[in-house]
Amino acid sequence: MRMKHTGIYTRLLLTSILTGTILLFLYTALYYVNKRQEKEMLEETQKQFRKEVTALFTFKTAAIKQVAYDYSFWDEFVNNIENPDTAWYNDNITTILKSFRVDYVCVYDSSFHIVHEAASPQFLKRGFLSRNTLERIKEAKFLNFYKESFDGVIEISAASVHPTNDPTHTLTRPRGYLVMAKSWDSSFVADLAILSGADIKLVKSSGSIAKGDKYSVYSAQKLNGWDDKLIGQMIFSRTSDSFRLYNKMSVFMLAIILTSLVITILIFHYASRKWINIPLSLVTQILESNDPVLIKELQHCPGEFRHIGHLFNKFIRQKDELLQAKQKAEESDRLKTAFLANMSHEIRTPMNGILGFSSLLKEPDLVGEKREQYIEIIEKSGARMLNILSDIIDISKIESGQMVIRYSVVNVNELIKSIFVLFVFDVEAKKMSLTYNNGLRTEEACIKTDKEKLYSIISNLVKNAIKYTDKGSIEMGYSQTGDFLTFYVKDTGIGIPKKRQAAIFDRFVQADISDIQAREGAGLGLSIAKSLVELLGGEIWLESEEGEGSTFYFTLPYTPVTCEKEPEGESAPDDKPKDQV
Ligand code: ADP
Repeated sequence: MRMKHTGIYTRLLLTSILTGTILLFLYTALYYVNKRQEKEMLEETQKQFRKEVTALFTFKTAAIKQVAYDYSFWDEFVNNIENPDTAWYNDNITTILKSFRVDYVCVYDSSFHIVHEAASPQFLKRGFLSRNTLERIKEAKFLNFYKESFDGVIEISAASVHPTNDPTHTLTRPRGYLVMAKSWDSSFVADLAILSGADIKLVKSSGSIAKGDKYSVYSAQKLNGWDDKLIGQMIFSRTSDSFRLYNKMSVFMLAIILTSLVITILIFHYASRKWINIPLSLVTQILESNDPVLIKELQHCPGEFRHIGHLFNKFIRQKDELLQAKQKAEESDRLKTAFLANMSHEIRTPMNGILGFSSLLKEPDLVGEKREQYIEIIEKSGARMLNILSDIIDISKIESGQMVIRYSVVNVNELIKSIFVLFVFDVEAKKMSLTYNNGLRTEEACIKTDKEKLYSIISNLVKNAIKYTDKGSIEMGYSQTGDFLTFYVKDTGIGIPKKRQAAIFDRFVQADISDIQAREGAGLGLSIAKSLVELLGGEIWLESEEGEGSTFYFTLPYTPVTCEKEPEGESAPDDKPKDQV
């Protein structure tokens, strides 16, 4: 249950440690199997070595035993024990020393008196056998045993002497005894060492056997005294270098495996941290914070994470766009609701005027000036209604893309003059002046555009100027700059605060402004003007200081065309300007 919440990195790490442990366990098992095998092989070698050494030992001691046996049933020898003849002994017994390479030979008669004795020069001992030993020889008939000497051990082989017809020594009593000794001094041991290919040590019975190291094989040959008591041992030992090497190799192998395991885990740890853990925690942080710096960092990560980083970027961009679209939709919805409220007010006001004054007109007594005044109010209210309705129709046409441009040759100078003529009385009625400026001569002032729309744009701007100006002057005109004509309408009116200027061309904006400066109007005029200017290929903007007046500019492409002679009285568009402010 808890594992469910463990991070991927920890899981990977645990997996690698688990795998490592299993491998380690397997390798250790392998190591122990190896060790066992090594032990078995060592035991086998040990067995083999013992066999070898025993065979060699037997071979080495066989010769002297054989000599003792060969001489021990011989009539001539029996005679010479009973009637000793020195010459015979010199010829037959002393020669044993040289012939069979023994160091000492001695003949006893049946009462254990020495009859003859001979020894090699380096063998100094004489008559060294005790009475007990001789008794034991008598009893055993053949006796092989060892005796300690100052520089090693003496091997002694003895036999009782019998007539020729008694080779088994069972039929007759002993007539004497033949004793031979061979000294196992250091040179003998050295020879034996060469022969056996082993190190040899003579150990006295009291001494302890020092075993070699665990890679040595060894064999101990027991050396018994005349009474079968151990007087020492001959230790053969051989060190097996191949085993030592074999062992070294397996330890070395294990060390290599262990090191590589540790290195693998470390590399794994490093790589998974760098390539998985860090990017994953980045992903988590990005999901929590949307931080673009972290996204950039993720894009620098290797593999799939780079792609995820790009996707995050795309996702966040789309999210922003959606958010903006949502805000826009909400804003537009809010504006539309406010617009509707304002619109109903704007429609109701003139409607009330029309209905109210119409009923007043019914008064039979109403005559003269008053009556004229009422009719004028009804007319103005009707015109205002018409104006609002045309704005609404225009804006819905623009919104649905049904506004069609009808190109014709337009003389801009004449168009401006017609607008001047239309509005000059209204301006003068407000005790202000209206002037106009033509930027081109009349012959050059013809362009191909939609006359009705251009008329509507300028007259709208002029109407606003009149509406929002109470004293001073209003000026309109245009100038040519390169491929464009720049039109302007300038007033000395109330001006527009800077913070409102950006939104002034937006639809329904007038209705939304709380510190309302607007005088009657649906707040559609400028947005319609902007759409029309853009439809005709230009742009619109304004410059204004609060309290000092405003100047609205717009451009139209200028491609001069030959002016056509217009029929009389057709200077203004067909449909009359919508109203007079
Ligand atoms: P309206 O029908 O209300 O005049 P417009 O779209 O023509 O709507 O204008 C939007 C708003 O811009 C107006 O309500 C007014 O506050 C401001 N405005 C437009 N022209 C001028 C101007 N010449 N001087 C000052 N304010 C202006």
